[in-house]
Amino acid sequence: MAQAHYDVLIIGGGTAGIMTAAQLHRKARKLRIAILDPARDHWYQPAWTLVAAGAFRMQDTRRDEAAVVPDGVDLVREAASRFEPEANTVHTANGRAYTYDHLVVCPGIKLDIDAMPGLREALATDRVCSNYIDPEKTRRVMKGFQGGVALFTQPATPIKCGGAPQKAAYLADEFFRRRRLRDRTKLVFATPGSVIFGVQPFRTALEEVVRTKGILFKPFLSPVRIDPVRQEVHFRWCKPGEDHGPAVDAQELPQRVEGGDTIVMHYDMLHLAPPQSAPDVVRHSPLAYADGPNKGWLEVDIHTLQHKRYPNVFGLGDVAALPTAKTGAAVRKQAPVVVANILQRIKDGALSKMQYDGYSSCPLVTGYGRMLLAEFKYDNVRDSDPLLTRFFDTGKPLWSMWLLKKYVLPWLYWNRMLKGTM
Ligand SMILES: Cc1cc2nc3c(=O)[nH]c(=O)nc-3n(C[C@H](O)[C@H](O)[C@H](O)COP(=O)(O)OP(=O)(O)OC[C@H]3O[C@@H](n4cnc5c(N)ncnc54)[C@H](O)[C@@H]3O)c2cc1C
Repeated sequence: MAQAHYDVLIIGGGTAGIMTAAQLHRKARKLRIAILDPARDHWYQPAWTLVAAGAFRMQDTRRDEAAVVPDGVDLVREAASRFEPEANTVHTANGRAYTYDHLVVCPGIKLDIDAMPGLREALATDRVCSNYIDPEKTRRVMKGFQGGVALFTQPATPIKCGGAPQKAAYLADEFFRRRRLRDRTKLVFATPGSVIFGVQPFRTALEEVVRTKGILFKPFLSPVRIDPVRQEVHFRWCKPGEDHGPAVDAQELPQRVEGGDTIVMHYDMLHLAPPQSAPDVVRHSPLAYADGPNKGWLEVDIHTLQHKRYPNVFGLGDVAALPTAKTGAAVRKQAPVVVANILQRIKDGALSKMQYDGYSSCPLVTGYGRMLLAEFKYDNVRDSDPLLTRFFDTGKPLWSMWLLKKYVLPWLYWNRMLKGTM
């Protein structure tokens, strides 16, 4: 039975919410903690890339939400609809209100389908798919593909797991080779970015992967519109300092330039990461940045994860405005900082000495049986695990890292991370 007041109220019972609740509960059994989340399902999203490739079962990425909430922590099945931080109150869509001593905000990220004209209609066709929305459909679309242009895109907004769109392209390359379709396929990876990956030495290794696979890498292309009838994506050329489009080679790819800076590219199959934003409940709240490049994202200190204006509010996970990649791996390093800071504040009102250094990691699956583990921290500095790198060259695609991704990480997630022991 839900109470009206909690010592710690957590908004969102995804990766961040469950890890935080589990660690807090282990360290301070007497705290009254609640997770507010209307979801019935808890998803292990990192395996969706493998589901699309037919290397993992979708049902194994799901658990009942209630089953992952630690015993002793309340699950309130309601959606937060409004934050009133001056009154330490969260209002819910059901018209209820909960008060708190400490608030942890982690409702993830919103897939903003309607932010791109034509996207919703395109997703209704059998040529357009996204591992972010339905990885099983990606599999069906790849199976139905008979050759032509296989286009993979990335939006200009921040996204969760920035490496996921290119992982989809690498696995598709191998899938098409196995089906003897690769000779008849132009596989294109188009991104608003300038390079395939921001951190060295992973960038060099991935450039080599792109080259050997014969993937057409197209930088500075920001998708703005989809025409599902003509099977075309409209991109805005976004190279800094250049307002005109590049000269396109229609021999290389069916494409054309329109209006100076719009490149229109044909697809026979399209995989995309949809535009993403902070969930509305945060975006339109006093907890978000009101202006600037982080507008709409949760305003927390990048090292303490404490809200910059409301000291009893903390935030982590995809919703937080942190200059690092939004991943579950990042959450694993953020949760202990939030937990230590809340416990210290309860004890003496101060913050703990723990700081988050921006650690994130992207397990870049480069084919069936190959994975490169890119680990880094703030400022794009490599931060590979010293123990792992003693035994493996994690800057290269390896069979051992594939095993880590397919077997070890899912096990650790369900049995250790969500239990608060890792
Ligand atoms: C295709 C794909 C591949 C990925 N690959 C990797 C990978 O290889 N490695 C990796 O580390 N990460 C990967 N990720 C990213 C990872 O899954 C996320 O970064 C992680 O889940 C973030 O945790 P979170 O708690 O912030 O959000 P989530 O886990 O998404 O949870 C958010 C929760 O908040 C709830 N919620 C939303 N709105 C409200 C509201 N108003 N009130 C209450 N509750 C609300 C939701 O129901 C949900 O339960 C991948 C993601 C995708 C989609």
